[in-house]
Amino acid sequence: MMPNYNSAAELRAFLEKEGLGMRKKFGQNFLINPKTRQSLVDALGAKPGCEVWEIGPGLGAMTDMLLKNDLRVKAFEIDNGFIRVLKEIFCDNKNFNLVEGDVLKTWKNETSNDSLNETFLFGNLPYNIAAVLLADFIEKGKTFSRIVVTVQKEVALRMAASAGSSDYSSFSVLCASAYKVKPLSVIKRESFYPQPNVDSMGVLLERSSPQEMPSGFFRLVRALFASRRKTVKNNLTAFLSSRFGKVQSQQLCADVLRENAISENERAENLDFNAFLSLAKSIENVRI
Ligand code: SAM
Repeated sequence: MMPNYNSAAELRAFLEKEGLGMRKKFGQNFLINPKTRQSLVDALGAKPGCEVWEIGPGLGAMTDMLLKNDLRVKAFEIDNGFIRVLKEIFCDNKNFNLVEGDVLKTWKNETSNDSLNETFLFGNLPYNIAAVLLADFIEKGKTFSRIVVTVQKEVALRMAASAGSSDYSSFSVLCASAYKVKPLSVIKRESFYPQPNVDSMGVLLERSSPQEMPSGFFRLVRALFASRRKTVKNNLTAFLSSRFGKVQSQQLCADVLRENAISENERAENLDFNAFLSLAKSIENVRI
C-alpha cells in the first residue's frame, strides 16, 4: 500500500511497520511538500510517453507523480528496503522500471530508450553523490534534453554560477559545457523528513547545442581550479609540465596564454566556459 507522502508522522509509522529506517549515508530525506514536488515535475516539462530517469525514488513520492503524467520511469535506487516497497507499489505499472544498486555504477549499463531523442533526468538527489553523479554524466558524454534535480542550495549556486562570482568553480564550467543552468526556487529544510541541516534548491538544466570537447578539457578545467589562490599561469604551468615535461612547460604556458589573450596574472575564477574551451583547443594542437 502507498504511504501518505505528505506527512512526516505517517511516513515514520509506515517505515516502522515495514521494519525500515532512514539511512544518513544514503542521503535519505523525503520531500514531503506536495506542491514543491508538483512544481519540480512541472518544471521538467516531459510529455506523456517520454522516458525519465529518476535518481533515488525512495518510497516513490515523485515516481507516483511522474507515472500519473504517463511518463516511462527508469528509477535508480540503492536501498534494499525501499526497493522492496517500490516493487510492491508499482509492480503492476508497465511504465515503471527499477534499476537496483548504486547509480554511480549501474547507469553505465542502461541505455535511454526514446524514439523522439528527448531524454530527461529527475530526482531529489542524495546530497552525498549529487555533484559527483552530475559530473560523471557530463564527463562521460551522457546528456539529457532536460534535467530537474533538487540539490543542496550551495551546490545549486555553484552549478549556476558565472565567471567572476565567488560560487564559480570547476563544477560550474562542467555544467556550462553541456547545459544552460537555471536555478529554481529554494526549498526550505522544513519541507523534508527527516529535516536536514541545510536548505535545498531545485535546478533546471537545458541541453545546449552539442559540441565536440577537445581531449583533456575536463582535466584542464580541474587543474586550473586546483589551487584557487594561484594564477592561471601557475596552475597551467603545472598542468603542462605533467603532460609535456618541466623544461617545455614555462614557454608553452606563455605561448598558450598569449594566443588566447589571457593575462599571466588572471585567475581561473574569471575565465568563462569559452575561454576554457579555447585554451583546451590550443593545448590539443600543441606539437612538440
Ligand atoms: N525521491 C525521494 C523523495 O524525494 O522523497 C527520496 C529522495 S532521498 C533525498 C535520496 C534517495 O536516493 C534515497 O531513496 C536513497 O536511498 C537514494 N540513493 C542514495 N544513494 C544512492 C545511490 N548511490 N544510488 C541510487 N540511489 C541512491
